[in-house]
Amino acid sequence: MITERTLGSLVSEPVSAANRRLCRIAVVWVLGALGFSGGSICRAAPDPHWLEHDRNRPQPEVITPATPSTPEQPGRAPSDATVLFDGKDISQWASMDGSPTRWIMKDGYMECVRGSGYARTVQDFGDCQLHVEWATPIPPHGEGQGRGNSGVFFGMDRYEVQVLDSYDNKTYADGGAAAAYGQYPPLVNACLPPGQWQTYDIIWTAPRFDSSGKLLSPARLTVFQNGVLVQNNVELTGPTSWLERAPYQPHAEKLPISLQDHGNPVRFRNIWVRELGRPGKKEFTLADSLLDSYTGNYERGPNDLIEFRRDDHQLVTRFSGITFPLFAESPTHFFAKTLDVQFEFQSDASGKVDRVIWSVGEGANEAKRK
Ligand code: MG
Repeated sequence: MITERTLGSLVSEPVSAANRRLCRIAVVWVLGALGFSGGSICRAAPDPHWLEHDRNRPQPEVITPATPSTPEQPGRAPSDATVLFDGKDISQWASMDGSPTRWIMKDGYMECVRGSGYARTVQDFGDCQLHVEWATPIPPHGEGQGRGNSGVFFGMDRYEVQVLDSYDNKTYADGGAAAAYGQYPPLVNACLPPGQWQTYDIIWTAPRFDSSGKLLSPARLTVFQNGVLVQNNVELTGPTSWLERAPYQPHAEKLPISLQDHGNPVRFRNIWVRELGRPGKKEFTLADSLLDSYTGNYERGPNDLIEFRRDDHQLVTRFSGITFPLFAESPTHFFAKTLDVQFEFQSDASGKVDRVIWSVGEGANEAKRK
């Protein structure tokens, strides 16, 4: 097998800068032909764009790392993280339909309220590092899956890392705390007693689908519980679910993270996330009611309409005979991912949405609502 090391030996002789560039291009081309990728999904080899010890290679960004939590005091997030919950502000969380969450905030934590539904992030996340701290009720109540059950979900509500009081509480192995629910038990049971703050540090790699919906690569999970490795880069078979191994269904790469309402008053604090891989636009899953305020037909020209409708929690447009999903960059601005089309919804003086400014590749045009 040809590796980058053997390819590197081909270019290790003293050579001119121009030849070095040519060699670099050749290495990139050969690795590309062999199927290596510099993409973010899973880097199986050093980035072939750079020579070993390349003096021109950019330095890593300097950040301030996180500080550890104590039982009394949550730590501080690293400087490059998005803080999702700092104990004082719950506005990064919503109900699944985008309305304000009914989870309560108290004494620096947020707590699940039975029957209030999952709490999800307003912002969407793809590949990421997530830190979350949780505590199950003390005194413990219930048995098995009924004791301190919640969960950390990726992909909106599809892929669960189980949260459960698994301290001296037996349940099926693939349903205990830190299980990739129904698929992978944790490597060890690293639980602390109920009532104590515990940490999950999770590396999430979102599944990838092609434009026809075919699975390109499955979801992956690595989990540390209380500093102990409990899931080591496991490959999910599909959404986690009860009673069945559900197959993958295509979905957006970036979606909200959510916390489960399983009827138990589990508490969470100090939640932060670092996005990994390709930098991109911030994306949001907006409230269904807001998306509904945009749906309908807008007149682009005589007998030429732009149609907007809502599909689940996403706005979809039919534009010039082509239908494609739109992604929110802000509460009013939407974009497509497969082509450079942008839409900005605007309102009249009374606040009613009455037009959309649209552009394809360049310019700006107005379409009035019918
Ligand atoms: Mg659960």
